[in-house]
Amino acid sequence: MTRTTPPRPVDIEAAFPALARYRRTATRLHPRQGTAKPEESSVAGPLLWPADEPWPVCTAVHPKGTGHLLSDVRLRRRIQDEARGRDFTEEERRLLDGMTRGTHVPELRDEDPLPMLAVAQLYARDVPDLTGPEGHDLLQVFWCPFEVHGTERTIAVELRWRRSAEVGAVLAPQPEPPVAGREECVPTSCVVHPERVVEHEYLGLLPEELQEEIGEWEEGLLDEEDEDAYDSSSPASYATYEEYEAAMAASRAQEPEEVDYMSDLSIAPGWKAGGFASWHLTDPAPVDCPECGTPMPPLLTVATVECDGASRSWLPVEDRDAADDPRVIDPVGVYLGRGLMRVHTCPADPTHPHRLSFQ
Ligand SMILES: [Zn+2]
Ligand SMILES: [Zn+2]
Repeated sequence: MTRTTPPRPVDIEAAFPALARYRRTATRLHPRQGTAKPEESSVAGPLLWPADEPWPVCTAVHPKGTGHLLSDVRLRRRIQDEARGRDFTEEERRLLDGMTRGTHVPELRDEDPLPMLAVAQLYARDVPDLTGPEGHDLLQVFWCPFEVHGTERTIAVELRWRRSAEVGAVLAPQPEPPVAGREECVPTSCVVHPERVVEHEYLGLLPEELQEEIGEWEEGLLDEEDEDAYDSSSPASYATYEEYEAAMAASRAQEPEEVDYMSDLSIAPGWKAGGFASWHLTDPAPVDCPECGTPMPPLLTVATVECDGASRSWLPVEDRDAADDPRVIDPVGVYLGRGLMRVHTCPADPTHPHRLSFQ
């Protein structure tokens, strides 16, 4: 099934033609739990990885055998999924209690190479906003699931670009680390439903004048709503609390959805390729190429939620009846930073080292 983002509630470029210069496309990935084939774009593999090529490993020195067993993480998610809407059975409870964070692989030394986790693979034919080195049509993303790397103590991300036509026999089975530092560093296998959308630059990065105009326009929208509320012909008093509640519910249902630039008109939520980076938790930070200084847009955004209350207008049409389903809202189960992790690459030369940013 495809996934379709509803049209934006307002044509913001019609209201602010200057925004056309701050438009970019993004490809929402719309991951949903399922198992893809190596020949398909996916989250968490399997990858189109040549049988005769070494799998990427983390060679940083850090504890590698202590954490959560990947098998436990997957079993816990399956149990929680199956038990949704009912109590755990005794057997489920026993299994869940048996899963602990600890040293599960004592023989794994800090300096041993550790297979990295397959996180995503994206084919350019599915994801038009993938910009890689000339002639490469497949991006494969890995990370080491321990938040201990670099000065910022984060996961370590590795990108591999390849020409898919050059891959012969595919590696099977595919390696993975036995343990992850935190459960939320482990993605659940998903198929993806790429969909291209239009985004506009993060509000705080627009020219000041444009920011102010948009701010005034948003205030105007709020005033209109208030006036509508005053015009309401409903009585000011109610015989019973139930009547009052019913009247409030009815007026809420009639109210136009509140629209604002940040939530509805600029940046899409969820996993995506391309587009803009949101800086709603910190001030915007420049992300420049460490090699040549070119500003680096986000290539891949890894998000905890595909959609939340604030970004409700982005919920795909096909998921309208499942807006509370964790398999729609948080299908991948990854939580990095405070909900968002971006991999930025250099537009001047995609082989320059990438950088990460978090929100
Ligand atoms: Zn590592
Ligand atoms: Zn560069």
